[in-house]
Amino acid sequence: MRKYIMAIDQGTTSSRAIIFDKDGNIVSLVQREFPQIFPREGWVEHDPMAIWSTQIAACTEALMKIGGSWEDISGIGITNQRETVVVWDRKTGAPIYNAIVWQCRRTADYCRELKNQGLEELVRGKTGLLLDPYFSASKVAWILDNVEGAREKAELGELCFGTIDSWLIWNLTDGEVHATDYTNASRTMLFNINTLQWDEELLNIFNIPSSLLPCVKPSSCIFGYTDASILGAKIPIGGVAGDQQAALFGQCCFNPGELKNTYGTGAFLLMNIGEQPKITDSGLVTTIAWGLDGKVNYALEGSVFVCGAAIQWLRDGMRVIESASDSEYYAKKVPDSGGVLVVPAFQGLGAPYWDPYARGIIVGITRATNKYHIIRATIESMAYQTSDVIELMENSTGIKVESLAVDGGASANDLLLSFQSDLLGISIQRPECIETTALGAAYLCGLATGVYSSTEEIKKNRLIAKTISPEKDSAWREEKLAMWKKAVSRSLNWN
Ligand code: ADP
Repeated sequence: MRKYIMAIDQGTTSSRAIIFDKDGNIVSLVQREFPQIFPREGWVEHDPMAIWSTQIAACTEALMKIGGSWEDISGIGITNQRETVVVWDRKTGAPIYNAIVWQCRRTADYCRELKNQGLEELVRGKTGLLLDPYFSASKVAWILDNVEGAREKAELGELCFGTIDSWLIWNLTDGEVHATDYTNASRTMLFNINTLQWDEELLNIFNIPSSLLPCVKPSSCIFGYTDASILGAKIPIGGVAGDQQAALFGQCCFNPGELKNTYGTGAFLLMNIGEQPKITDSGLVTTIAWGLDGKVNYALEGSVFVCGAAIQWLRDGMRVIESASDSEYYAKKVPDSGGVLVVPAFQGLGAPYWDPYARGIIVGITRATNKYHIIRATIESMAYQTSDVIELMENSTGIKVESLAVDGGASANDLLLSFQSDLLGISIQRPECIETTALGAAYLCGLATGVYSSTEEIKKNRLIAKTISPEKDSAWREEKLAMWKKAVSRSLNWN
């Protein structure tokens, strides 16, 4: 029996390959960064070939690091930065433009125009998404309209569109397979999450020929096999899911009502809502959690744009810390934030406020305030924003959240987690393996390739490294949250 599963974790700033054993332990991990391209203010691009070359290098190196061979790998699972788009030539495989990244705002005016035409309700009803440049459709339209000759080639069926998973599958199979999975398709704004089909009406609105589209498959199935000329062996690609959905799977949130929060660059709270889509206008998006065993699970998602990025700002902008983990050390030098609140609305605010014009503020400063208070308040801002999204989730679903599973880089911060637990009045669990995104992709692959027989078997792997329980009473919580809401109100509509 082959011993390991390889997870490809293609993120916004780096390409990673992680090799897991059957028990979910990390055996090898390699990470390669690649350049971020900012052609103009608010525009973000990646070179698709840099994504591919760093990814393939990471995979090969991860295997070399343990002295392994491809004979040891039972399958490959892919998880990826979501919404980012690549358009390439079907014959040559060459991209016709850089990848337009999820963060890119170049289509903001176009999306506003569609909103003004009253299309928001239609889009929400079909896709579960908000009419925002964050999602893929307007980015693909931009490429077809702005790259010379693209529209003609598209009409002739000579182009392929894909999110990053499709781009990697295409290259790994040497152009044999043009496919994506339900989770990635559900972020394009072209996929009807009710009927599980690409949507003709949306394709017409965005003027995208259907010949560009990949075939959509369940998240756990055999997508194809790596071409031996690429990796040196024929390995099944058995699992594919967007990063946040993969993390939900990696946290074993298999049942409705179970949820996780990822504290990464941004924060993403996802709740499994079962096999029926629930579309709300509350500011949460509805998305496909995964397709597995002939069924689809849906999730509600609350997105916070700036989470750990606020800690990066303390490091790179304010220069008050040298590394992200220093933040906890310095914050502990004071007993509390001394009444200071930081609202890190650097790119506006996402859920529940959705205000693109909000801007960051620091309030409550007195003569006694020092830098430790501001560092502590910045850590606390990650917890406050998460509390806002949980409140929204509870109000939208009527489900009371009883405990929270966490992951992502900033979940290593114990001060954050204890403040979060106090603020929510519930316990928090940090799993042994916080690489839940990659783990989720490995599990999806393992189910398709027979490494695991069921999600029940996978659940046995889940180990909790730390449980944190609340220590404050509800009066404390209410007072804190009231002050936070007041601070947020001062940051809104700052134009
Ligand atoms: P992503 O996958 O979005 O790139 P990660 O999950 O790797 O993000 O998390 C990285 C983020 O976590 C960074 O923004 C960093 O500032 C933050 N971070 C990492 N370690 C800590 C820590 N100990 N305390 C607070 N924030 C941290």
